[in-house]
Amino acid sequence: MEFKTIIEPFRIHSVASIAMTTESERSEFIEEVGYNLFSLHSDNVLIDLLTDSGTGAMSRNQWAAIQRGDESYAGSPSWLNFKAAVQNLFPFTHIIPTHQGRAAEKILFTAIGGAGKVIPSNTHFDTTRANIEYSQAEAVDLVIAEGKDPANLHPFKGNMDLVALEQLIKNTGVENIPVVMMTITNNSGGGQPVSLENLHAVSAICKKYSIPFFLDACRFAENAWFIREREAGQSRREVIDIVREIARLADGMTMSAKKDPLGNIGGWLALNDDGLAAICRNLLILTEGFPTYGGLAGRDLEALAVGLTEVVSHDYLRYRIQSTAYLGNALHEMGIPVVLPIGGHAVYIDAKALLPHIPALQYPGQGLAIELYKAGGIRGCEIGSVMFGRKPDGSEVPAAMELVRLAIPRRTYTQSHIDYVIEVCAEVLKRAPSLTGYSIIKEPPSLRHFTSEFAPI
Ligand SMILES: *Cc1c(COP(=O)(O)O)cnc(C)c1O
Repeated sequence: MEFKTIIEPFRIHSVASIAMTTESERSEFIEEVGYNLFSLHSDNVLIDLLTDSGTGAMSRNQWAAIQRGDESYAGSPSWLNFKAAVQNLFPFTHIIPTHQGRAAEKILFTAIGGAGKVIPSNTHFDTTRANIEYSQAEAVDLVIAEGKDPANLHPFKGNMDLVALEQLIKNTGVENIPVVMMTITNNSGGGQPVSLENLHAVSAICKKYSIPFFLDACRFAENAWFIREREAGQSRREVIDIVREIARLADGMTMSAKKDPLGNIGGWLALNDDGLAAICRNLLILTEGFPTYGGLAGRDLEALAVGLTEVVSHDYLRYRIQSTAYLGNALHEMGIPVVLPIGGHAVYIDAKALLPHIPALQYPGQGLAIELYKAGGIRGCEIGSVMFGRKPDGSEVPAAMELVRLAIPRRTYTQSHIDYVIEVCAEVLKRAPSLTGYSIIKEPPSLRHFTSEFAPI
């Protein structure tokens, strides 16, 4: 007998209370912080779907590993456990620990970026793009056309457009492309996976032109699960095998350990090139720490080493992917436009389609995210023109999509929490025709979505 309820494959071991609030209280809270959901006090959030980054619950084995943390400055056994766990999945020669993924990006692009350089990806994540642009290099997104169409059912909407990649290499010149990146899964493009076939093809193009190929591998396990589920000939493989095959295609990676490694903090840069690794380690010592701990405590390294063994479990990944789809499919069935197929770590609501009466530069995604908070205390994240609209030259251009991301923290919420989210979304769907846009009244020079202030129009 196969039962239809997807039970969480864990029991609750320790709890964090949620404080209940009313809609009128929440309307005041959000107004007080200039309608920026990042500025809310998280005690005033009921269901926090702002991000899946570092917000997951660790297992009791991870907490036990924390107790084994060895805080030796150099050569700690916790470092060796961490390094072995990373190399068990990603057998790169050099593993450089950092406090977060963006620190790995900052180090890598300080070493290889710079004016005149062009760095293609399927879609750069916001911190990746910001770090590339900060180095004066140009970040180019080359996801396939299907990846920009929220309703398209292509199984691997994170794939790179191979023709566009080769064209870019020819037009820009190999000497100006220090690296080709691939984000798995494609976070900014809807959490969509990349196929193994596409990874092989991008790797082959990079080899043909002798350009290094790096993974932004934050959600490698979720991506590998999608490959197992959706790609011909993969359904009998172990996820760990698929992950190792992906790693072998690349010359290096940047990583946030706050995602699939099931940690609350951490990241790493990994690579095979000895010369580049030496430059990166020097930068690491300047800004993060000694090469055997990076920006992390020994106990963090231990927790991540355990997380890396747990995340490739098929029971965990089946639950993870199916429970995200449970939310997404429910919204789809009630008529809320969502990015299809449902991605791995989040459900993305298509605010442009839900709120066609709000122009892109009045930020329909921001308007929707604010309403979800007011109506039910749910905190999502705008991924649209607020996040991507301001170009480095100062101009403002609408983003390709206006999305609101409901990211699901790992192993944190139960199905009844998600049923509540579904009910709140049904209420917001009723209110949709009367929602209004917003204007930005205060804006920082970069990464404006984190700190801008808004006013309703
Ligand atoms: C989160 C994330 C990063 C940055 O990692 P941080 O740990 O938040 O600094 C980079 N790329 C992708 C795809 C991400 O999801």
